[in-house]
Amino acid sequence: MLELHDNLFNAARTREQSRLKLWRYAGLMLTYRCAAACRFCYYYCGPQAGGLMPVETAIQAWEGLVRIAGKDARVHITGGEPFLYFDRLAEICRQAQKLGLTPLDSLETNAAVFGKEEDLREKLRFLDACGLERLKISWDAFHEEFIDSEQVRQTVAIARHVLGPQRVLVRWEKHLAAPSGVRRQDEARKQEIFKQALTSDTCRFTGRAAEIIAPLAKQYPLERFRDENCRNSFLAAKGVHIDPDGNVFVGQCSGMILGNVRRTPLDDLWRAWQPNQGDFWGVLYKKGPFGLLEEACQKGFGPRNQYASKCHLCADIRRFFFDKELFSMIIGPGDCYGRYETRTGDPSWPPVIPPATIPF
Ligand code: SF4
Repeated sequence: MLELHDNLFNAARTREQSRLKLWRYAGLMLTYRCAAACRFCYYYCGPQAGGLMPVETAIQAWEGLVRIAGKDARVHITGGEPFLYFDRLAEICRQAQKLGLTPLDSLETNAAVFGKEEDLREKLRFLDACGLERLKISWDAFHEEFIDSEQVRQTVAIARHVLGPQRVLVRWEKHLAAPSGVRRQDEARKQEIFKQALTSDTCRFTGRAAEIIAPLAKQYPLERFRDENCRNSFLAAKGVHIDPDGNVFVGQCSGMILGNVRRTPLDDLWRAWQPNQGDFWGVLYKKGPFGLLEEACQKGFGPRNQYASKCHLCADIRRFFFDKELFSMIIGPGDCYGRYETRTGDPSWPPVIPPATIPF
């Protein structure tokens, strides 16, 4: 396990100054592919999206986290929809167990792709035997646009029967008890339902959420974000997300690549990261996305007058950088910007994708 002062940035700080936290969680994104294409997705997951994390990449990331956080390392597997590729998921879990890594903390699903009841029970029993602590089922008005509530209810009931009630969380159970009926509504009514959903649940406006949902939220003048930096978002992030290709995102800041676990072990990335340095991370650290505006505007970016949050502004600027291929070592991958065809340059791409089990 590492110590705080093992990080270069921390080593130059005093005890009184805030320091970069040790990363204790890693969300392994098995795939960007998903049966749904929720409007509030932090990425751009959907049926057309791809990627499939190799076992080797998952284990590299998992081992790296264990080297950082020791027995406190908490790995969850997410997507996209991980149950689309259960065989790969199972292989990763088996390998992690064989190597004695920390048990899988949780698995996130939207319950869209389960077929027969016995098949689901069998998969859950397998995960139980692998030491899965919690199954998290995502459910809210945004998922409801794509997924039948009855299917989710049945999945929850079966999962609670196999794993026990305490190990199955629904985010959010209150919506399952009272679905909004959004699937049957016209676009105008859908937007009202989503607006309402935004007032009760928090949503980080990055990825598709920034482009589709943020305009529905309360807007603030651009000038308001002048003094909002990202120092705390970086230093206090408890962990990372790692995409199917090994790209590392800090906390929930998708679409900004800190490094890649295929090239650099995760613990080395943590040790070396100095979030206050560089003309991208350093600017965000000190000034937030407002600090990137000047350079973006010089290159032709035209900001809106209003944004829902600093992350909405950040995503808008990053979209511009992505389209112009600026900061191209950091801004990406295409999967976070709805550009699925940008999966090139990797000799293992495209991976062999099993036939779709998406039920539509
Ligand atoms: S503004 Fe950008 S970098 Fe800062 S917390 Fe939001 S998404 Fe992350």
